[in-house]
Amino acid sequence: MQKHAIEKEQEEVRKTELEQYMQQNPLVADLMELNEVNWLNPNRKLTAEAGPFAVSREDMQKAEAVWRRFAPYFKKAFPETASTDGIIESPLREIPQMKAELERYAGETFEGRYYLKCDHDLPVAGSIKARGGVYEVLCHAEQLALEAGLLAEEDTYEKFTSSEFREFFSNHAIGVGSTGNLGLSIGIISAALGFHVTVYMSADAKEWKKELLRKKGAEVIEFEGDFGEAIKEGRNRTLADDKAYFVDDEKSRKLFLGYSTAAFRLQQQLESEHIRVSADQPLFVYLPCGVGGSPGGITFGLKQLFGDAVHCFFVEPTHSPAMLIGLATGKMNEVSVQDFGIDNKTEADGLAVGRPSALASPICKDLISGIWTIADAELYRLLALLADSEDLFIEPSAASGLAGPLKVKAAGYAEQLQLSMENAVHIVWATGGSFVPEDEMSAFYAKGKALLG
Ligand SMILES: *Cc1c(COP(=O)(O)O)cnc(C)c1O
Repeated sequence: MQKHAIEKEQEEVRKTELEQYMQQNPLVADLMELNEVNWLNPNRKLTAEAGPFAVSREDMQKAEAVWRRFAPYFKKAFPETASTDGIIESPLREIPQMKAELERYAGETFEGRYYLKCDHDLPVAGSIKARGGVYEVLCHAEQLALEAGLLAEEDTYEKFTSSEFREFFSNHAIGVGSTGNLGLSIGIISAALGFHVTVYMSADAKEWKKELLRKKGAEVIEFEGDFGEAIKEGRNRTLADDKAYFVDDEKSRKLFLGYSTAAFRLQQQLESEHIRVSADQPLFVYLPCGVGGSPGGITFGLKQLFGDAVHCFFVEPTHSPAMLIGLATGKMNEVSVQDFGIDNKTEADGLAVGRPSALASPICKDLISGIWTIADAELYRLLALLADSEDLFIEPSAASGLAGPLKVKAAGYAEQLQLSMENAVHIVWATGGSFVPEDEMSAFYAKGKALLG
C-alpha cells in the first residue's frame, strides 16, 4: 500500500474508534467540544476492595522515614524549614471569607468547613513538586552516599551539607524534562546537594523559571517545538552518561511516594483542628491534576489513613483532560487528549499534560470519586476572588480546586452515597505560587479582576 493509503486507513480506524467512544459515553463528545464537565467515577471501589497497587502503605511509611532522616539536612541547608523541624510542610488554613465570596459569586451555598492546603507556600520549591521531586532526588543521593561508603544510616544527615559530600555529588549528574515546577524542584535540590543537574525545557517555558534555575546552579537546555521530543531528548542525553540519573514524571514510583507522605502531615494538622474524619465528618479533598502523580499520591496516602471517609476529586483544564479521558475510556495512558482532537493548550502550568501517568492512572481508577474540568478564564476569576477575600495569592493552576464543594453538590454525590454533609470538611489543595515573581502575579490578578467585570 502507498503511504498515504495507509495513513488514510489509520485515520478511518481512529474515527471509528472515536465514534464508538462517543456512543458509549456522551462525556467524550462533551470533552471534545471543550465543555466544562463534572464526572463521577463509576469504577470507584471501597477501600477494602481496591488494589492491589504498585505501591503499599509500607512503602509510604518508608518514604516518611527518608524525610525524617533528611530533616537535619534541611534545617541546615534550608533554614526556612526550621519552623517545621526540617520537614518540608505547608500550613492548613481555614478560608471562611473565601467561602462567603465563592457562595456570593456562584449564587449558591454549601455545607461544611472550607480549608486551603497551602502547598503554594512549600519551602524549597514553592509548589507541590517540593514533595515528589525533592523526595526522588533525596532517595538517589542517599543511595549513592551509602554505596560509596560515605554514609551509614545512623549518621546525622547534616553531613549532606559538607564539602566532602558536595564534591562527591559533583561527579554525578541528574536530568529532568519539565516546562516548569518539576524542573524547579529537581534543579534546586540537586544543585543544593552539589549534583550536576540539567533541566530540559521547551523554549516557551517561563523566563523567570529559567533564570531562577541558572541562578541556583542548574544547567537549562531549551528545545524548540514539541515538548514530548524535549523530554525524549533529555532522557536520551542523560542516560548516555552512566553516572547520570533521569527523573521520569510519567512513571516514577519515587515521585508518587514522595507525594503520598503529605497524608501523614495532614492527619496531624486535622487533629490539631479537632477534626476527626469519619462517616459523620467526611473529608473532601480537591486536587489539581497533571500527569496524576501528585493528586494520585496524595489520594493514595489519604485512603490509607482515612479509608472510605475521605473523598478525593481531581480537576483538569478543559484543554488538557488527560486523566479523565484515560479513566472514562478505560484506556489509561494508552490514549492522549490529542487523539481526541483536544489541543492541550492551557495557561495552567503543571496541568498542560496530554497523557496520564501509567503508574497513577490504575490507582486513581479505583480510588478517586470524580473529576471536573475547568476553563482557563475561570482559574483567573477564582484566583482573584481568593486574593480579594483572604489576601492569598496562588498561581492559576492552584486555583482550580476552589469550586470543589459546589461541583460535588452539583454532581449529587452526597445523595448517591447518603452522606451527611453538615460536618463535612473541604480541603482545596493550592499547588503552587510563592515563587511566581510579583509582576507576573499582579498580571494574573488583574486578568481575573477584568474577567470578573
Ligand atoms: C505538577 C503540578 C500539578 C499536578 O501534578 P501532577 O503530578 O502532574 O498531576 C498541579 N499543580 C501544580 C502547580 C503543579 O506544578
